[in-house]
Amino acid sequence: MSSTPTHSPCPLSNEATDDSTTLACLKTTVQQFVAERDWQQFHSPKNISMALSVEAAELMEIFQWVEPSVSRDIDTMGKRQEVEEELCDVMCYCVAMANELDIDIASSFAAKMQKNRTKYPAEEYRGRFGKDDLGTGK
Ligand SMILES: [Mg+2]
Repeated sequence: MSSTPTHSPCPLSNEATDDSTTLACLKTTVQQFVAERDWQQFHSPKNISMALSVEAAELMEIFQWVEPSVSRDIDTMGKRQEVEEELCDVMCYCVAMANELDIDIASSFAAKMQKNRTKYPAEEYRGRFGKDDLGTGK
């Protein structure tokens, strides 16, 4: 591990919600999980990026061959728990990468969203998914 982030202790319990949990708490939880297993030795950015991609593929597999409209209702699909678990696997590796590279997720996220707003101005991209949908040949 290139650096050891120090976060305030946090008990991440089953009662935790998005409103009651900080990113620092998630970082600490992942850091402790990794440290308890002596897995820092495996957590190179290369390995984490690949594991993250594998978990993203596991999330995609749930929706493979499912009609887009059906994919919006994971309860009817009977896949809520599976989706939650794979999403958390992806997040776990995102947080592990941030820990490994000492990245402040919130400030990086804010900066990237500002970049996205500039790249995709709402007045130009509202209701459109990208340049191919604009028909401008950009
Ligand atoms: Mg998984």
